[in-house]
Amino acid sequence: MKARQETIERIANREFDVCVIGGGASGAGCALDAQLRGLKTVLVEAGDFASGSSTAATKLVHGGVRYLQEAVTDLDINQYELVEAALRERALMLRNAPHLTRTIEFLVPCFSNFEKFYYGLGMKMYDWISGKSSLLPSRLLTRDEALFRMPALQPANLIGAVAYADGQFDDARYAMALVETFVAAGGEALNYARATAFGKNESGKLVSATVADQSSPGTLQIRARAFVNATGPFSDVVRQLASTHAPLRMRPSKGSHILFPLDGFPDNGALLVPKTEDGRVIFAIPWNGRLLIGTTDTGYTPGEEMIVTREEIDYLLRQVNPYLNSPLTADQVVSGYAGVRPLVAAPGVTDTKKLIRDDEVEFDAATGLTSILGGKWTTHRLMGEETIDKVQEYLAGPRSPSRTHDHPLVGSEGYHWDYWEKLAHNFKIPKLTAQHLAHKYGTAAAEILELAAADASLANPLVEGEAPIRAQVVYAVRTEMALTIEDVLARRIGLQTYGWRLAIQAAPVVAAVLRQELGWSAEQEDTAVKQYVSKIEHMLASAGLEPESLPTFGKDLVLERS
Ligand SMILES: Cc1cc2nc3c(=O)[nH]c(=O)nc-3n(C[C@H](O)[C@H](O)[C@H](O)COP(=O)(O)OP(=O)(O)OC[C@H]3O[C@@H](n4cnc5c(N)ncnc54)[C@H](O)[C@@H]3O)c2cc1C
Repeated sequence: MKARQETIERIANREFDVCVIGGGASGAGCALDAQLRGLKTVLVEAGDFASGSSTAATKLVHGGVRYLQEAVTDLDINQYELVEAALRERALMLRNAPHLTRTIEFLVPCFSNFEKFYYGLGMKMYDWISGKSSLLPSRLLTRDEALFRMPALQPANLIGAVAYADGQFDDARYAMALVETFVAAGGEALNYARATAFGKNESGKLVSATVADQSSPGTLQIRARAFVNATGPFSDVVRQLASTHAPLRMRPSKGSHILFPLDGFPDNGALLVPKTEDGRVIFAIPWNGRLLIGTTDTGYTPGEEMIVTREEIDYLLRQVNPYLNSPLTADQVVSGYAGVRPLVAAPGVTDTKKLIRDDEVEFDAATGLTSILGGKWTTHRLMGEETIDKVQEYLAGPRSPSRTHDHPLVGSEGYHWDYWEKLAHNFKIPKLTAQHLAHKYGTAAAEILELAAADASLANPLVEGEAPIRAQVVYAVRTEMALTIEDVLARRIGLQTYGWRLAIQAAPVVAAVLRQELGWSAEQEDTAVKQYVSKIEHMLASAGLEPESLPTFGKDLVLERS
């Protein structure tokens, strides 16, 4: 907690060039871009970093084959340009954090020669637009090749498949890596810090923000020459803090995902369901030893709880099961998550499925607020660049180019795909733990293992037989600003996504470490565990599942490299 207090004091005692509000993909991308250009930057996040949409993604680093299809069928140049930009960014995202990303092949099952021709042509176009950024060329598979590649496919009437490559990533860790890289470059970052009001000078320009500490009573004033609103689906709220009458721009929609044991699916091959009952596509993707299925796209009511409902599970299963040899059932679900897409409203478009996932940098000349609206995880870097270009224009000082193109994120320098072997050898740890740590932290994993080397109790697993270890909790608090059990399990380590039952098992162990690190009382520790477990149980109830009914888990928590 001392470190947090020191950060608060440093922030309160300085004037910054840029204050970025919102610590998801967009905000972290803007903050890193600004700091690397030499602008003194502070990043504030109302909850935990990436606790909003940025950990609710399908975890694809992609141009979007559906958006390409729409670009072609609707002759929509904006969609086309978005796909093209995202494919360029895909390559940069993979290159700047190789430990958090990978290439994965998707299979589109075909049941007629027309489908094979149609999807095959579409994927060749996707390859062509990727150009030099192409990951692997697409290819046509025969029926036998498709079934060999993915034995879980339903074989009746299958004539083959089209295979194409896209990127996959660990969204929570990528966001942490952006924040840590920003801090390493000299930026200041504070989570649990909500911007609640702005101060203005006599000409109406924003000069300060009032920020309420969400973890303990208190507020601080942040002084800055420019403010960036990167609050995703909540952008309208902050736009209206600056200008009460700012018209609403956001049109959010809800998306849910569910996870299953990976049984029968290859670790390096995903399924694209090309047609859903509501005219979209759905993915079934191996992710950290689980099968991730998503997503839904439904209207969002302000204030709606972001948890998966039983209806959404039933919907997802209805779309995927016709393509599977052994249908999945709701009682096999191990976990799930839901989030809000930060879509920007477009004139005449009422259906959120039809809204383009493009971003817009909005500059309010009256107050000087720059808002980054909409966008995708894949394009966060470019969005940061465009936003900070605008901010520099407003600051009217010397312009400096964006430096994020080839700036490696924390953990990627010196990283190689077999880095885990070095960890296993140097620190004498099991293969699974070495792989888990290497893929979550890259070369920064060594710092975690140094903690465990200094205190052997920290080398113990969080849950017996599973890969994560207790030293990760200490690291999460000391280096990554975690303050709650959920910060640790949902975002720093990811155990909550691997399985709700695992998370319930790990909660008391995490709380015991947090008590030591954060100086909690026994009562605080007990309350934290109860609150966390009841939150997970609430998710289970919404999904129509009982805690006892959760299936047991495989031991494989790591992203095996293809
Ligand atoms: C279901 C779903 C699937 C998706 N799949 C993909 C995918 O596979 N690939 C891809 O590229 N993109 C995907 N996306 C899109 C991507 O996740 C989002 O575009 C991206 O995460 C948005 O990031 P953001 O930072 O703008 O918003 P957020 O992550 O929501 O961050 C905004 C932050 O602002 C904070 N905040 C709000 N108000 C304040 C305040 N007053 N003060 C301080 N902080 C505040 C919030 O707490 C929040 O953390 C998906 C989105 C969804 C919902």
